[in-house]
Amino acid sequence: MGRLQKILIPLLGLVLAFWFYSARENFKPEMLKGKRVIVTGASTGIGEQIAYHLARMGSHILITARTEAKLQKVVERCLELGAASARYVPGTMEDMVFAQHVVKEAQTSLGGLDMLILNHVGASYFGFFDGDVEHVRKLLEINFLSYVAMTTSALPMLKESEGSIVVVSSMAGKVGFPFTVPYSATKFALDGFFSSLRQEFNIQSINVSITLCILGFIDTERAVRAAAEMLRDRPAPRDECALEILKAAALRRRELYYRYSSTRLPLLLRDCAADLLDYLVRSRFR
Ligand code: NDP
Repeated sequence: MGRLQKILIPLLGLVLAFWFYSARENFKPEMLKGKRVIVTGASTGIGEQIAYHLARMGSHILITARTEAKLQKVVERCLELGAASARYVPGTMEDMVFAQHVVKEAQTSLGGLDMLILNHVGASYFGFFDGDVEHVRKLLEINFLSYVAMTTSALPMLKESEGSIVVVSSMAGKVGFPFTVPYSATKFALDGFFSSLRQEFNIQSINVSITLCILGFIDTERAVRAAAEMLRDRPAPRDECALEILKAAALRRRELYYRYSSTRLPLLLRDCAADLLDYLVRSRFR
């Protein structure tokens, strides 16, 4: 009986904690109705799906990427789906002046900003690190520095609206991944910057939420083309992933793990069995 109690009481505690945690979740699409949102990397992939979900929820959307023809189509679709407004700014995030210009465009055309969704990612290779330092520098500019530049420019507007910053990252930004060394480095940098910034917001009572999204393998064209033959995992659907990102953002969660089973659960091993986690990560590759 004593032994049963020793197991049952902690188990009951866990169930209650889980219930309490789940009960907090109460997302409603109206939460994003009329909100002014920037989505980067929205010409395709997860960013495109985020734009469509926002459109269905009636947000004001400003999207950006390099390919104007694709952005134009996404904007047209957003308007069909019910966006309160939709516009695009084409350009490259290699250029920090452009990154800041996108934020200024939100100020001019939307009169402010409620949510900044940082999602774009520069092209990299899938293979052993080739020693190309210039590529690492360029990727850091696109995947990291432009995120910092946009956040810095957007902060006055986000403070005013008590808004949100959403940072789309990866499992490869929480644990070492083979074959994506430069990419992983940029994603780890995002965690360092935005998790530290969140601490400072807290100290300064700045009511701007930061949601870091830790994604597993998602079925976007780029990812499937690059990794499907190498990875044993089945990719998760990008439209569901996009919706989960928006839910976490609207609920001002500090982190999102999607899918939970391929991200949060293995990461539980990180502090107590790091070598085992490394082995599990390696074993996901053919
Ligand atoms: P995609 O490659 O499908 O889309 C990337 C977007 O970024 C495109 O809109 C692209 O448009 C834009 N982009 C690329 N280079 C630049 C640049 N130099 N300047 C401005 N925009 C640029 O990526 P995903 O949708 O797969 O990924 C989205 C996010 O999710 C990324 O941050 C990625 O790291 C993360 N993620 C994805 C995973 C997956 O398996 N798919 C797994 C883990 C994380 P254009 O080419 O027109 O510029």
